[in-house]
Amino acid sequence: MSKQILCLPGDGIGPEIITEALKVLDVIKQKFNLDIEISEGLVGGASLDAHGVPLTDEVLAVARKSDGILFGAVGGPKWDDQPMMNRPERGLLKLRSEMGLFANLRPAMLFPQLAEASSLKHELVAGLDILIVRELTGGIYFGEPRGVRTLENGEREGYNSYVYRESEIKRIAKVAFEAAQKRGGQLTSVDKSNVLEVTALWRELVTEMGAKDYSDVELSHMYVDNAAMQLVRAPKQFDVLVTGNMFGDILSDCAAMLTGSIGMLPSASLNEANQGMYEPVHGSAPDIAGEGKANPLAQILSLAMLLRYSLAEIEAADAIEKAVSDVLDQGLRTGDIASEGCTLVNTSDMGDAVVRSLQA
Ligand code: NAD
Repeated sequence: MSKQILCLPGDGIGPEIITEALKVLDVIKQKFNLDIEISEGLVGGASLDAHGVPLTDEVLAVARKSDGILFGAVGGPKWDDQPMMNRPERGLLKLRSEMGLFANLRPAMLFPQLAEASSLKHELVAGLDILIVRELTGGIYFGEPRGVRTLENGEREGYNSYVYRESEIKRIAKVAFEAAQKRGGQLTSVDKSNVLEVTALWRELVTEMGAKDYSDVELSHMYVDNAAMQLVRAPKQFDVLVTGNMFGDILSDCAAMLTGSIGMLPSASLNEANQGMYEPVHGSAPDIAGEGKANPLAQILSLAMLLRYSLAEIEAADAIEKAVSDVLDQGLRTGDIASEGCTLVNTSDMGDAVVRSLQA
C-alpha cells in the first residue's frame, strides 16, 4: 500500500522551502522506488486567510490518516493582532495535541563544513551529530494542580506540579532506545533523581527497560545540571539524550545553538503509532520571505527524518543527508551560512544542487 505524506507549507518562507523539499522527494521516490502519495493543505496564517481558522477539521482529518506530515512554518506580522486562540501557531499546537505527538526529536548536527558558524571551538563541534529526545505532552508544563494562590498572610504563591506516569516514561524511553538502535547505539537519560522523586522513578524505569529489552544499547544516566555542562564542554560524547519536557526544552535549544546555524536544523514530533510531524526548528522568517534567501536545508533534512522515522526508509534518509553534505562540500551556501570563499546561492539553486547530487 502506498504511504501518505501530507505537506503543510504554512506561511512566510514555509512554501519556498517546502517546494525544494518536494523536488528532493520526487527524485528520492524514483531512485529508491518508493510508493508515496503526497497531498497538500493549508495551516497557520494561510488557513486563517482562507477559512478563518489556523487549522480546519478537514486538514486535521487528512493529517490523522497520513504516515508523515512535512510541515513548513507558520506565523508572521500580518496575523499578530489575532486573538491568542486564533493565531497561526495554534494550528501547529492543535496538530501536536490532537495527534498525540508526545515525542520530540531534535538532532543537533553540525556538518564539518560549517564548523566556523558555532560559537564553540572548531574541534569541539566539527561533525557533531547528537539527538535530543524530549517528552512533549507531559511533565511540569502540563501537571495539575497549577496556578497562583493567595496564602493566609496575603502573600501570593505560584505552584506547578511535576508529574509523570509510568506509561508516559516508558513510551518516551522506548522512542529513545529505538532511535539509539538506529543511530550510534548510545543513550544518555537525563534527570534530577537526586532531588526529584518523579525523575527517580524515571531513572528506575529507564534502567529496567534498558536491561530487559535493549541490551544492545549502551545506557547511561546524567543529572541535568551536568548534562548542560557536558553539552558545552564536550558535546560529541553524546549520541542520543532522552529527558522530560522542561529539561528537554532547555537542553535542545542549547544543543541547537552549538551548531550556530538555525537554517540547518530539522525536528520531528512522533506519536505512539509512529506517525510524525517533521519541521525545521526555525520559524517563518517573514524578514526574508519571498526573496529567495531562505535556506531550504532544514526542511530537506526534515524530509530525511520523515523517511527514517515514519517510513523506515533508512537508505533514502542517508542519501539525502549525504547529498546535503555534498552541496556544502561544493562550497554552496545560502546567506545565513555564507562564509568567505564560498558561492552564495538562492533557495531554489540550493534545492537543485541537492537534487543533482542525488542524481549523480
Ligand atoms: P525565525 O526562526 O522565523 O527567524 C529568526 C531569524 O533567522 C530571522 O532573521 C530569519 O530570517 C532567520 N532564518 C530563519 N530561518 C531561516 C532559513 N531557513 N534561512 C535563512 N534564514 C533563516 O524566528 P522569528 O523571527 O522569531 O519568528 C518569525 C515568525 O515565525 C513569528 O511569527 C513566529 O511566531 C514564527 N515561528 C514559527 C515557528 C514554527 O512554525 N514552528 C517556530 C518559531 C517561530
